[in-house]
Amino acid sequence: MTQPLTSQDRVFVLTGAGVSAESGLPTFRGADGLWRGHRVEEVATPQAFHANPELVWQFYSERRKRAATVSPNPGHRALAELERALDERFFLCTQNVDSLHEQAGSQRLVHMHGRLMQTRCSRETCHIAPFDDERLYLSRAEIPTCPQCGALLRPHICWFGEVPFAMDRIFEQLRVCTVLLTVGTSGVVEPAASFVRMARINRARAIYIGPEEPANSKFFDEVVLGKAGEVLPGLVKELSG
Ligand code: NAD
Ligand code: ZN
Repeated sequence: MTQPLTSQDRVFVLTGAGVSAESGLPTFRGADGLWRGHRVEEVATPQAFHANPELVWQFYSERRKRAATVSPNPGHRALAELERALDERFFLCTQNVDSLHEQAGSQRLVHMHGRLMQTRCSRETCHIAPFDDERLYLSRAEIPTCPQCGALLRPHICWFGEVPFAMDRIFEQLRVCTVLLTVGTSGVVEPAASFVRMARINRARAIYIGPEEPANSKFFDEVVLGKAGEVLPGLVKELSG
């Protein structure tokens, strides 16, 4: 039994690929980490985009196509329910690039690794804002160029070696939270793997939910082994008292 929240508690939720697994979007490591024989780390980098933008856009186009067919599961919905109860005492940081949290009703959230359904300019010094885009680009000729500078457009995704988005807001929320709920993330991808240690500096209570122990499990006060969609609805009820 998890201790209920008090009116003073502030909850920071971190989610990873595992929260979307029951919706039918595979985790990287679960799907053996390979796409057409390439390691995911080989297509999700700025270098890969520079060398072969067509291949990188094919990878993300496939994922766009798949993401358009899935729906939120009870785990996403339970987190949206917790947000409705806590209002501004709730913050959700997802490493996922899908939109299932929004589709379930979450509003106070940031996508630290970007969004699959957004596109932006590939030139770092160009400042056109990322825009909503669900189109698929399967050949080099189909990849659009920036209306401002002419460079190729790219997915609005934080690739390996790039700095995640919204880190100022995330660090601020980690400083003020009293409870950290971490769901479905392996605990090896930085900086998210260190959030639990940052939250604990101010003695936040840290709970992990997922079918297997994460690599950083020793930093959690509670590890609840189970699937997000099966554990979260009950856990949110317990937390809500
Ligand atoms: P990961 O693939 O490294 O780990 C997934 C974790 O989810 C594992 O710890 C696994 O035990 C757990 N898991 C599996 N099924 C689960 C379930 N039903 N309920 C709860 N947990 C479950 O993923 P990661 O740590 O999030 O990091 C990989 C990166 O890949 C992320 O940064 C993310 O940007 C990206 N990614 C995103 C998506 C998506 O947007 N849906 C999918 C795959 C990968
Ligand atoms: Zn541009």
